[in-house]
Amino acid sequence: RSIALVLGTRPELVKLTELIRLLGPAAHVVHTGQHYDEELSGRFLTDLGIPEPTYLTGIGGHPRAVQISAALAQLDALFQTEPPLAVVVQGDTNAALAGALAANARSVPLVHVEAGLRSHDRNMPEEHNRVLIDRLADVLCAATPENRDNLLAEGVAPELVEITGNTVVEAVHSQLPDADERSAHLEELGLTPDGYVLATVHRPENTDAPAALRAILTELAALAADVPVVLPLHPRTRARVEAAGLAALLAPLRVTRPLGYRDFLALARHAALLVSDSGGVQEEVTVLGRPLVVVRNSTERPEAMADFATLVAPGPALGRAAREGLALGAPGRARLAALPSPFGDGLASHRIVRLLAELATTPYATAA
Ligand code: UDP
Repeated sequence: RSIALVLGTRPELVKLTELIRLLGPAAHVVHTGQHYDEELSGRFLTDLGIPEPTYLTGIGGHPRAVQISAALAQLDALFQTEPPLAVVVQGDTNAALAGALAANARSVPLVHVEAGLRSHDRNMPEEHNRVLIDRLADVLCAATPENRDNLLAEGVAPELVEITGNTVVEAVHSQLPDADERSAHLEELGLTPDGYVLATVHRPENTDAPAALRAILTELAALAADVPVVLPLHPRTRARVEAAGLAALLAPLRVTRPLGYRDFLALARHAALLVSDSGGVQEEVTVLGRPLVVVRNSTERPEAMADFATLVAPGPALGRAAREGLALGAPGRARLAALPSPFGDGLASHRIVRLLAELATTPYATAA
């Protein structure tokens, strides 16, 4: 019997890569298809060396309830014929919630990687997903002491919670291209180290409200008058920019397709500043030692805010925070690079393998 890892999106592929590698043939990757295109999924599977998953059907692009219920029905059928030893889900996606419900329905132990994150913002579907998954989980892998405290405050039994660190730390360490490959990549794009801003925008609160999208792009375009701004454009954002008639605001920016993970890390490593609404990027900058402006109303990752990141709502505050971030200069970035990441030491996946071994009755760990 295998360990089923249920995932469906780009950040889950990134953050479960090392665990899947360590589990070797014991890992059965089940991909719900929440992210179904080549740019957000296919190339990540190939680039990260993830074994061919079992695919569910009819999920990508559908509303949340349809995604969850369609994945749940298919997972239940799968778990009936092939009962896994344990189900592992990561983070707060619809795929993760479907995996958690399916494990619960078949009485399979559920392991939640990245448990205990809380934005306390009930407008975010992800916040509901997190809370529900944590209620169902039998093993809760908290990345930080703060995440553990969040769980205990909600009444989760302390013996179910382990502080493992976040698996993103080892993902960055193992996927960051070496210095030569990085400089070749920068050269190709005509960028110089510490001489550009790297931005990503994809959250519905920023893309689906035309006023927010306009405000963000206006600030990025103004920044681009002083420093190159690279924007790998998420397919949802591209569609919304076009629908809202905002394409002209992209003209001053260096717009690219969504980047593969190694290419993204290569650019992030040498950016003078990042601007993003991504969850994962808030963690990655703490490993890379770069300053970040987070464009959101709330964050479930306050650990990043202490030294590395500033939270701003879309609007002029973005431009101000970005200029402050750039003004840190080389000494400020050197200070950040010397700080340890609050998200762990790069051994989270090893710790999770050990927790899985305690759950399992048959030997499976290929890299004990
Ligand atoms: N990322 C990437 N290419 C890009 C933009 C982002 O590989 O063009 C990575 C990023 O480094 C992070 C992950 O995708 O590891 C984050 O995914 P996303 O922002 O979609 O999700 P979130 O982290 O907000 O859940």
